[in-house]
Amino acid sequence: MEIETDYLVIGTGIAGLSFALQAARSGTVAIVTKKEMMETSTNYAQGGIASVFDLDDNFELHIKDTLESGCGLCNEAVVRMVVRDGPARIRELISMGVNFSHKPESKEDLDLGMEGGHSRRRIVHTKDMTGREVEKALLQRAEENKNITIYEDHMAIDLITKSKMIKRGIVTSESTETCWGAYVLDVREERVITFLARITVLCTGGVGKIYLYTSNPDIASGDGIAMGYRAGVKVANMEFVQFHPTCLYHPKAKNFLISEAVRGEGGILLDKNGNRFMEKYHPLKDLALRDIVARSIDLELKKSGDECVYLDISHKPTDFIKERFPHIYETCLGYQIDITKEPIPVVPAAHYICGGLLSDENGMTNISNLYAIGEVACTGLHGANRLASNSLLEALVFARHAAERSSQDLASNKSLPLPKAPVWDPGSATDIEELVVVSHNWDEIRRLMWNYVGIVRTNKRLKRARARIENIQAEIKEYYWDFIVSSDLLELRNLALIAELIIMCASLRKESRGLHYNLDYPSQDDEHWRQDTVIWI
Ligand SMILES: Cc1cc2nc3c(=O)[nH]c(=O)nc-3n(C[C@H](O)[C@H](O)[C@H](O)COP(=O)(O)OP(=O)(O)OC[C@H]3O[C@@H](n4cnc5c(N)ncnc54)[C@H](O)[C@@H]3O)c2cc1C
Repeated sequence: MEIETDYLVIGTGIAGLSFALQAARSGTVAIVTKKEMMETSTNYAQGGIASVFDLDDNFELHIKDTLESGCGLCNEAVVRMVVRDGPARIRELISMGVNFSHKPESKEDLDLGMEGGHSRRRIVHTKDMTGREVEKALLQRAEENKNITIYEDHMAIDLITKSKMIKRGIVTSESTETCWGAYVLDVREERVITFLARITVLCTGGVGKIYLYTSNPDIASGDGIAMGYRAGVKVANMEFVQFHPTCLYHPKAKNFLISEAVRGEGGILLDKNGNRFMEKYHPLKDLALRDIVARSIDLELKKSGDECVYLDISHKPTDFIKERFPHIYETCLGYQIDITKEPIPVVPAAHYICGGLLSDENGMTNISNLYAIGEVACTGLHGANRLASNSLLEALVFARHAAERSSQDLASNKSLPLPKAPVWDPGSATDIEELVVVSHNWDEIRRLMWNYVGIVRTNKRLKRARARIENIQAEIKEYYWDFIVSSDLLELRNLALIAELIIMCASLRKESRGLHYNLDYPSQDDEHWRQDTVIWI
């Protein structure tokens, strides 16, 4: 089966939907998403979106905070563009029906939250459910739009590129590599559909599922980065994985984050004896940047042998806690933890990838007609460490720039017929009989990455991880060609590649900077390493 469209958008998070709503003004948009449309990291974002609204704040301060957080690797021009565009993008969300929280007794003034690394209050939020509110509003607008069709349970497998067509003798030109859409697995019907598109936009989010402990939903398996890399897109800075310091520690809680905003509003970290420990590690104490807090907790846990530390907000008035953090309050209460009366058990968990597909200020990659927006991209905004609440903002700003730029591309190639793509060839693949190999390899990758390529790294651990991943890759390759593709097998293949890319970048960087901490090179080396780590096929 073949579907033709002007724009193919892969992903229904803030990046994909924001792009689609703009792009639908100039052409038809097909959005594919591998599960239900709400199942995105965006939907779970709690804290909010960083932007300058307070009279006491200004663009230069937000720029300075972002650059400091990025430890010398941000692209300053991109930081300036994103920060300056912020207020307009927030107003646009409001006009699309997003209900942000306002100051008490004010219908005009946004309530601005405080988070680690920010020198001013600038987090625009909807209590502690910002992502859900944004996702809901954007989806509603997209579903109403006649130019947009959303395909749920459709998982993109690989991009359709000119080189693939040359290999099959369909086109002969050797000029610039170009993308013409993607092969997509219709998970319910178990068939592969060819989506032919003039513009393809990867908005597939992050890679958290590569680690044993993560705040990310299950969709975050790095598919877009893996697809892009296989097609020849340059990948950068994969060593910079952000670990969120405070995920709920409870045997039954899966991936539940305790927002940065809890520390921003006065939450204090304690060991199991009730002692504060952050003052030992940083002058900003509990408000230090995420990487410092995550590393401090990791060290405390390694020293004490304890399984978790505690985050205490119970000294704040009960009404304030319930009003400001209703979702965290209710969820913790569901696990018999009353956060108005007792501290919350927490551990660090993989949260965000600063690296990804290298893209320019318009979200363009090095392949023609292929864009990457949101967490899948490496734009230069975050450098070596993302400032809290800058990622939703990044997705909004780049979606707008990419839509403007790609509508120009579309105008110039709309009259040309789309090339004929080779149909998906399953070869002699048969059904998988033993899924145990898939689940075993999956589990092994996640443990390996947690233990050897986690918060603190060493050369020896990275070397061991590389050797193991190469073996797993070989097994997956055999499986991939012998068996009919399923979503589990596709995710496993992508996870193994993402693991390899993170290990490759981490091994290349011979220093510690931002989120990358290697005990064999504990200092920052500006003379040799103030540069991105870029790899490609
Ligand atoms: C718990 C949590 C809290 C957070 N809090 C904040 C916050 O307060 N502020 C902030 O700025 N950031 C926050 N972040 C980070 C932020 O939410 C994400 O970076 C952002 O939402 C990413 O948006 P996105 O559109 O790039 O991807 P996502 O929102 O993750 O969407 C990815 C989409 O791609 C689809 N997809 C993936 N692979 C495929 C495939 N192969 N085929 C088809 N579809 C595919 C998924 O199904 C999904 O629809 C948080 C993240 C988490 C997990």
